[in-house]
Amino acid sequence: MRIVDIIIKKRDKGELTKEEIEYFVNGYTQGDIPDYQAAALLMAILLNGMTARETTDLTLAMAYSGEILDLSQIVPVAVDKHSTGGVGDKTTLVAEPLVAACGLPVGKMSGHGLGFSGGTLDKMESIPGFRSDLSTDEFIHQLKTVGLVLTGQTTELAPADGKLYALRDVTGTVQSIPLIASSVMSKKIAAGATAIVLDVKVGTGAFMTDLEQARSLSELMVSIAKLVGRKAIALLSDMNQPLGFAVGNALELKEAIKTFHGDGPADFVEHSLIVAGHLLALGGVASDEKQGYQMAQKALEDGRGWERFLALVSAQHGDTKFVENPDLLPTGSIIHTVRSPRSGYIRKINARTVGEGAVMLGAGRAKKEDAIDHGVGIVLHYKVGDIVKQGDALFTIYANNESHVQQVQDYVLNGYCWSNTPVESLPLIYGIVK
Ligand code: URA
Repeated sequence: MRIVDIIIKKRDKGELTKEEIEYFVNGYTQGDIPDYQAAALLMAILLNGMTARETTDLTLAMAYSGEILDLSQIVPVAVDKHSTGGVGDKTTLVAEPLVAACGLPVGKMSGHGLGFSGGTLDKMESIPGFRSDLSTDEFIHQLKTVGLVLTGQTTELAPADGKLYALRDVTGTVQSIPLIASSVMSKKIAAGATAIVLDVKVGTGAFMTDLEQARSLSELMVSIAKLVGRKAIALLSDMNQPLGFAVGNALELKEAIKTFHGDGPADFVEHSLIVAGHLLALGGVASDEKQGYQMAQKALEDGRGWERFLALVSAQHGDTKFVENPDLLPTGSIIHTVRSPRSGYIRKINARTVGEGAVMLGAGRAKKEDAIDHGVGIVLHYKVGDIVKQGDALFTIYANNESHVQQVQDYVLNGYCWSNTPVESLPLIYGIVK
């Protein structure tokens, strides 16, 4: 078999066999297939798609590129959530500690930033010392002792996704149903999750911009989960504006910390509780998602969620001083407030433009080897439906490079629309796929 023939076959809209898919995944993981050929195949897949059968084979080949954890001796149900990627989406940081605080252990494999969407690991790595490269033994030990783990793909767990994810980030090959489904589900399968809540984002700041695409992606992921004997549901959730106010790694971490202290943005608090409620129901700790929501709310209010978050940071060698006093976290040295050019009701805040603005400031990567700037980003001051007066502070840019500020100001401002008449706020959830 030759990789060039596989690329040509997909370029010409052919259907790849299981053997061809495994040849590609194994060859790339082991370093026998170079980045440029892998990138060409990813682009062909993005442009020409894959059948459900090809996507399932790709998912399983990626999952089996490393170990598959069997957590049945450690936890009765291994629950996990995964977002398909959004702007300002820091849900894991709050929802998972809340679930763990309600007695349901969570072992999660997350990712770094992808395109204009932020990554949970980049947010957590704003904390000096925080390790997201746990070995399998460390993962299992921490799940047993702390009941909460947040790690990344390693050479042991889902290594194929680790490499493909980093390549997709910088080759314009993120927005593809088969590539997202296989990336998400291979991680969940490898990390041993048996009950999975998929948070499928839809809107301008998501990789799926319309509900139909998001539903297809959801159905595909739920069917892959069922095929390998795992339970899964998918929430179709709004990403037509950023979730919460903060976009950028340490800024989002600070917003999550504020949420634990009772000062989180209403939409973000609600979304985190909904996700936690579903996890608790799927994990059998709550009778349904409504009871799960109430349990999570109690754990948020009485501080047990915060206590679990601190335990997570400390177990993964993060310096807890930085989360106990978030002013110590990295922050852009230039703080620039952008004012509303007109009065009116906010009709639109293009989430993608905000996400791309944050990447332009240095919050994401342009090349695989790029370091990111944890301190930069954008904090909004209003949401869709709010009324503003001309001259009100609309959003604040945190930057470390003066030359980025004007460019990002214009770019992000372009994504705003106003209306003279009242505008309804956006819903959080559009539907559920089971
Ligand atoms: N999250 C992932 O893990 N992979 C994707 O492709 C998108 C979101």
